[in-house]
Amino acid sequence: MSIDSRRAFLYPGAGRGGPRLSAHEVMRRILAMTIRPITIHGEPVLHRRAQEVERIDDSIRELVADMIETQDAAHGVGLAAPQVGVGLRIFTYSFADSGDQPSRAVIINPRLRLIGKVSKESADPEEESEGCLSAPGYNYPLKRSEHVEITGLDLRGEPLRFEATGWFARILQHEYDHLDGYLYVNRLDPKWARRWKKAVKKEGWNQPGLTWLPGVDPDPFGHDEPEDLAEPEGLVEPENLAEPEGLVEHDGAGQSKGTGSAERGFSSYPG
Ligand SMILES: [Zn+2]
Repeated sequence: MSIDSRRAFLYPGAGRGGPRLSAHEVMRRILAMTIRPITIHGEPVLHRRAQEVERIDDSIRELVADMIETQDAAHGVGLAAPQVGVGLRIFTYSFADSGDQPSRAVIINPRLRLIGKVSKESADPEEESEGCLSAPGYNYPLKRSEHVEITGLDLRGEPLRFEATGWFARILQHEYDHLDGYLYVNRLDPKWARRWKKAVKKEGWNQPGLTWLPGVDPDPFGHDEPEDLAEPEGLVEPENLAEPEGLVEHDGAGQSKGTGSAERGFSSYPG
């Protein structure tokens, strides 16, 4: 994201009812944006309901700026404030296929309404797998509503409302869940939940205080691998040999490349 687009995103109303900041101050703040550590499953802030934002002030604007920076550094399609350790009802998303809506936005104090019912059928690992920056390196499928409505506030405190379908709707549901203390792994059907339980045990992700830092720690979804070298033909991952069922459950980097859903946004671009 360029400096100019960050300025437009973070200070859309500068001089027109937005924050009264000099151009110099706006630039100083943009350059001061910080990548924050991402909390991992087991950290309590991820597992309790986040609180409403009462006033959109400088501390909120700074938090949102840092969330954008962190989301970009982590190659995320979305990020919720609890994922940077802050128990407030804020999430950001970045998704190109967002129809009439901005491809990047922050939503404060959102309310989500499911318009389409969540199917009771079993989820398709190829088409319906999600990944979460707070469960780094893993993907599991689950059913979501195909159609949602979201309302909330933008960074200026102006009300917003729109509907979303498909992957965009899925991203909004994933991020919204974070604000109610749920990760997508808490919504898996029993077959996938068992695998997740094993993963938690293996990784030790049931204790507070664990984080990873995008840009410093290896990218858990494989984005620091050179594209061309990501999946040489004929190479069989040792993990796959050890665990022949593990077609969508991945340890470490990059194995989720090449699935249909990865192209569109969630398996290798988590939220
Ligand atoms: Zn997530």
